[in-house]
Amino acid sequence: MSLNESELLAKVPTGLFINGKWVRGGGEEPIAVEDPATGKTLLEIANANATDGLAALTAADEAQAKWAKTPPRERAELLRRTFDLVRERAEEFAMLISLEMGKPLAEARGEVTYGNEFLRWFSEEAVRISGRFGSLPEGHGRMLIAQRPVGPAFAITPWNFPLAMATRKIGPALAAGCTMVIKPAELTPLTTLFLVKTMEEAGLPAGVLNVITTSASASTSAPIIADPRLRKITFTGSTQVGRKLLEQSAFQVLKASMELGGNAPFIVFDDANLDAAVEGAMLAKMRNIGQACTAANRFIVQDAVADEFAKRLAAKMEALKLGRGIAEGTTMGPVINEKARENMQRLVETTVKQGADVVTGGEVGSGAGYFFKPTVLANVQPGSTILNEEIFGPIAPIVRFKDEAEAVRLANDTEFGLVSYAFTEDLKRGMRLVESLDTGMTGLNTGLVSNAAAPFGGVKQSGLGREGGLEGIQEYLETKYVMIPATEI
Ligand code: NAD
Repeated sequence: MSLNESELLAKVPTGLFINGKWVRGGGEEPIAVEDPATGKTLLEIANANATDGLAALTAADEAQAKWAKTPPRERAELLRRTFDLVRERAEEFAMLISLEMGKPLAEARGEVTYGNEFLRWFSEEAVRISGRFGSLPEGHGRMLIAQRPVGPAFAITPWNFPLAMATRKIGPALAAGCTMVIKPAELTPLTTLFLVKTMEEAGLPAGVLNVITTSASASTSAPIIADPRLRKITFTGSTQVGRKLLEQSAFQVLKASMELGGNAPFIVFDDANLDAAVEGAMLAKMRNIGQACTAANRFIVQDAVADEFAKRLAAKMEALKLGRGIAEGTTMGPVINEKARENMQRLVETTVKQGADVVTGGEVGSGAGYFFKPTVLANVQPGSTILNEEIFGPIAPIVRFKDEAEAVRLANDTEFGLVSYAFTEDLKRGMRLVESLDTGMTGLNTGLVSNAAAPFGGVKQSGLGREGGLEGIQEYLETKYVMIPATEI
């Protein structure tokens, strides 16, 4: 372990953060957070149980009224000060993300810039929450329409973007005047802990943001969701878990935001700029080692360019250097754990049995970490298992198509609807695709759509609600209508 690494890890709090204090959890064994590139433990941290979860909710509930009344400018300034501190510590955040999640340092730096932007964006939105005033059509009164914070929120985040998934929820919640309990994923909790420590230094009032880390997600979360003091749930993770949480949220009719799984189609037409399409494919597929909800899951490529596209994509993939994220020269890290690596192996074997050809990769990488070689599978047959599963790893399956109608039909043939990508030089066709692809987001001639100023989210089973943009703060506000009789005016 290099000196920098141990110095950084020594700065990361290992407790739960409840009501402004770092405390030990009541769960039995600490959580050992592993480095997926080595399989070794980075740090052991507190393990919350259901009692700790409820204590965190009590703190959030008790802080709620005061935080809602805190002037928007003050709420904004807390977020802005945190943004400035994260920017100062960008290298430390990047290294921590890379250590616990495995992505190359350059990508981790990208996540710090992207994730931190949610704090700046929502610090700017905090002072723009507004309402309206108008006459009732009959003339007998006025309507005053205000927006109020919905109340204490519970956030559950995934392991793949340890900073951005947290700031995308903390930013708008705190800006809107909601307090929060956040439960990061047990695989990558360190970045959230370091972020909250940074917020503490920026002046976070006690109870406004509370963190629980736990290896018992279900039994710690369920009592929080069932508690009448909670008013909002915001989840990013798999559709499977999202469904369970929605079911639990139904009991209290919680306001729910769900950022769930994806199965993104990436369509390449024969009139596309093929170099741009391959560049876009590398971004859309390989960012985060393929472990992004926005990851291109199905390459749908027109017959005339399918072989050439596969060849060029494979060449780029083969040029990637696998290694530990923080090591010099690494351009691709490991997948998150052994289970994920086994899943890659299974998907390759099944797809080949179902008629596909391996152009490159298709096997585990060397070393102690969970490496899997970047893989291109060509001539994947329609109906293959891989086309219906979220791959969440470095495998690019290519399916061929003949005409636009077939491409759209294949692209929409999924219960997911997060993002789609399309490459064509024909502007009219591009606009037709934008209208016919059933996804919450489309990248037109680009492999990257995420931006703090844009509404991120999906349709169909990819979720409910949007994060970022003007829409993001709405998820934490509710509307209050006041009727004022004309006689009162
Ligand atoms: P996951 O659903 O397994 O876990 C997500 C979080 O939920 C973790 O914190 C986990 O501890 C917690 N959790 C699991 N079971 C729970 C339960 N029963 N009750 C309460 N909490 C529970 O997902 P993951 O493996 O961490 O992340 C990968 C998934 O997240 C993929 O499906 C990916 O597409 C999705 N994702 C979506 C977006 C988006 O914005 N749409 C962004 C990133 C990731």
